[in-house]
Amino acid sequence: MPEPRLTTSESIDEDQKLDLTLRPQNLDEFIGQEKIKDGLKIFLAAAKKRAEALEHTLLYGAPGLGKTTLAHIIAKEMNVNLRVTSGPAIERAGDLAAILTNLARGDILFIDEIHRLNRAIEEVLYPAMEDYALDLVIGKGPSARTLRIDLPRFTLIGATTHLSLLSSPLRDRFGSTYRLDYYQPEEMENIVSRSAKILNCQVDGLSAKKIADRSRRTPRVANRLLKRVRDFAEVKADGIINLDLCEQALKMLQVDELGLDEIDRQILQIIIEKFNGGPVGLNTLSAATGEEMATIEDIYEPFLMQMGFLARTARGRVATKLGYEHLGYKEPEQEKLV
Ligand code: ADP
Repeated sequence: MPEPRLTTSESIDEDQKLDLTLRPQNLDEFIGQEKIKDGLKIFLAAAKKRAEALEHTLLYGAPGLGKTTLAHIIAKEMNVNLRVTSGPAIERAGDLAAILTNLARGDILFIDEIHRLNRAIEEVLYPAMEDYALDLVIGKGPSARTLRIDLPRFTLIGATTHLSLLSSPLRDRFGSTYRLDYYQPEEMENIVSRSAKILNCQVDGLSAKKIADRSRRTPRVANRLLKRVRDFAEVKADGIINLDLCEQALKMLQVDELGLDEIDRQILQIIIEKFNGGPVGLNTLSAATGEEMATIEDIYEPFLMQMGFLARTARGRVATKLGYEHLGYKEPEQEKLV
């Protein structure tokens, strides 16, 4: 089986196991995102003091930044059960109704990728979130009637990578919204060191920094990269990760000095070589690279934009001057550049 890619968004079995082992268990273990932690600590303390459920909370940010981890931590801190599902997993309104009616008072329902819930299902959530009630339609046609069922006071934690795709009625029903940012370099180093300790592998400070610097400022990528480097160290050396070995492993994984992998480079290269720097539509880019549109949009594009290598315009994606330079291409004429 091919090695899962570092940047993939879906969890593969082995990576799921890794996520579980390395997942911080409480707010103190959760590195960075200080503003979110400060806010959460206050709300958690207040809810506990009043012995009430926490207000509905929306977490948004790129994949792998810690949304699911935070939901688990919140449930643990509140000492309640967490029920985990996702937008695409809920296919019918009845599925959601079944989940909601099975919640106990205070429980947390975590819906990942909540922007992918379909509208009809979303409407079931409105009264559930607002009035803790479920409106069931019984029968069809003129004889149809609605039956209201009371639900226990629960907390919905929604997670999304695309806040703009969330309908405003749904967005408005969350009491608090937190945006998870990409991590600072020192935070990434701390995350790599913490994970290395848990995985029981020896990494010196410079190697931890190197892995951190190439992890797209994203904890999930850092953990995957650390694991690949560790595997490499076990096969090629005595398991100890030093700078030289780290360089070799990163080279083999085709992760460059800024953390771009082969697909990132391929996307940029296609825009530059085949489309003269762009603009290129997302679907064309998807066809040309063989990557799904959602993967390009969720994983590659945000990072390339963050690095200043790619820009999104009304007409499509364009490579920037920095993007040209990074891949070693000659800059195009001035008027084409962003
Ligand atoms: P998301 O739900 O945003 O895609 P996850 O919560 O699944 O991201 O995080 C992916 C992995 O990254 C987790 O299993 C955890 O090990 C690690 N991680 C995320 N945030 C942090 C953090 N702030 N500190 C340490 N590790 C983290």
